[in-house]
Amino acid sequence: MSNEVMMFALFYPEYQVTDETIEDGKIVVKMNSLKTADNCPVCGVESVTLHEDSIRTIQEAPCWNTGVWIRAKIHTFKCQNQDCPVDVFSEELSFAGQNKTYTYRLEKLLQDFRTKYGNEKAKYVLAVMGADLSDFS
Ligand SMILES: [Zn+2]
Repeated sequence: MSNEVMMFALFYPEYQVTDETIEDGKIVVKMNSLKTADNCPVCGVESVTLHEDSIRTIQEAPCWNTGVWIRAKIHTFKCQNQDCPVDVFSEELSFAGQNKTYTYRLEKLLQDFRTKYGNEKAKYVLAVMGADLSDFS
């Protein structure tokens, strides 16, 4: 992959895209966070103390009628505020909410389609485009 153009890198400037592959008929984009600091979601104090890395798998909007999944290596930080009840927190992602399994872009696409076509047709169209909507109600 090293000599090929990484198309998805254009969409995630805060991350280093390390690989783009096809797995089980779906596009899988692997990337690493470049963040070196983040703010605690409870107290807001910035932390530069890395705790460990973890992997989050998040569905992106489909592309070329194929499902797209991001497999991101992200950081967890230690909160440095001794008065804060939070010990460790995961970095905030620019493309997906906390604990979400899909991106803001996919969420917006579904909302736009729901507005135009209603829920069932919206889900049908997105499924034809390659999305897996099992996590959406
Ligand atoms: Zn905190």
